Parts: sequence; structure tokens; C-alpha cells
Amino acid sequence: MNEIDYKIHLDKLIQRIETARISVSEHHIVKIIAVSKYSTEEAIKRLYQIGQRAFGENKVQDLVTKSQNLEELPLEWHFIGNLQKNKINHLIDANPFLFQGLDSLDLALALQQRLEVKGAEMECLLQVNSANEASKSGVSCEEAKDIYAQIKESCPNIELRGLMSIGAHSGDKKIIQNSFEKTFNIYKELQGADICSMGMSGDFELAIKCGSNMVRLGSAMFPKEA
Ligand SMILES: *Cc1c(COP(=O)(O)O)cnc(C)c1O
Repeated sequence: MNEIDYKIHLDKLIQRIETARISVSEHHIVKIIAVSKYSTEEAIKRLYQIGQRAFGENKVQDLVTKSQNLEELPLEWHFIGNLQKNKINHLIDANPFLFQGLDSLDLALALQQRLEVKGAEMECLLQVNSANEASKSGVSCEEAKDIYAQIKESCPNIELRGLMSIGAHSGDKKIIQNSFEKTFNIYKELQGADICSMGMSGDFELAIKCGSNMVRLGSAMFPKEA
């Protein structure tokens, strides 16, 4: 894969995002997070060279390693995975741009305590398990609004920016759409929230049509090495 192949690949992907977002509104802006969890630092550099700035990792250790090794590039790192409590300090030290996987009040309180000790702050998204799947983390749709408010009230070092959700794991488009719509409806009711992170490689166009303004793209973003 040379730089031109990457560019052609990215242009096609951006064109699909453009079509989806304009079908919502010309004013609807969508941010792309390139999920680099299965990709090399070389591939990240190539995407950087053609204009991509935001990258996401789902393991704290990988975020630390890749962000350190690519320190000379002005990249924006998102942590999109689940955070174990024994990794909280590592994540704070890595200073991610946005932690998208805050998935319980309990975790928020533990994170708050550590942030306070370190005199740090972190921007976060509350993860919603909108399809109610046992394999996924996140708060339920029923509790989401309440927990969001509780975190805002009791965690001054956490700045909540909105919601993150993974679409339903289903072959039925209606079921996936329903999971996105449920998340977006909660998002709309949150005071001051401005990020609704939904949509991955297999379902980002549908997510955008349901209101997503941040898509997390792994396999679609990184072309397969020939
Ligand atoms: C891996 C991952 C993605 C990207 O998945 P693709 O299907 O490769 O686009 C997005 N969000 C989260 C939370 C992930 O773990």
C-alpha cells in the first residue's frame, strides 16, 4: 500500500460520510476517529500524512505505547475501550483527548478520586448499552439520564461531553437503527452534551442518519495491506 492507495481509500470513505451527513443536514458535522487498535504505527503515520488527526485505541497499554512512539506528531488520542480500575492511573497519565468508555457511576467515582489526587481533569462520554446486550458494557437506556446527571454532580474533575454507544449486533438493519435512535433520543435530552459517538465500519452511515456526530472507524479506515 503506498500513499496514493491510502489517499484513494480515505477519499472514498469520506465521500460516504459526506453523503450520509448531508442527508441529515449541511450543518451536521461528523468527526472521524480512526480506530488503530489492529494497525501499526506505520499505518497511523500514513493516515496522518493524508490529513487524519484523531485516533482511538481500546487498550490502555496500546494507547500509552503508540502515543509515546508517535509523540512527535500532533495526534489526538481517544480511549474507546473499557477501563479496569487498576489502569485508571495509567490512563490519566496518558492524558487522552477523550475517554469514550465511561460505563458506570462506580467507575466514574473511582476515576474522579484519582483525578482529584493528581490534579487532573478528563473529558469523557458515558457509554450506553442501547441494545441491552450482555456482551457489551455501558449503562442501560433507562438509567442513562440519571447516571449522567449524577456523574455531573459528583465528579467535578470529569467533564462529560455526551454519549458513546455500539450499535446492536444484528443482521437486521431495523434493530441496529433502533439502538442508534434510542441513544440519540437520550443524547438530545442531556443539557450541554455535544458529542454523540455512534457508528463503526459496518454501520456508520446508518448511525450518522440517526444523529451521530462522531464515528469510530477501524477496518474501514485502514486499508488491508496488500
Ligand atoms: C474496534 C472498535 C471500533 C472500530 O471497529 P470497526 O468495526 O473495525 O470499525 C469502534 N468502537 C469501538 C468501541 C471498538 O472497540
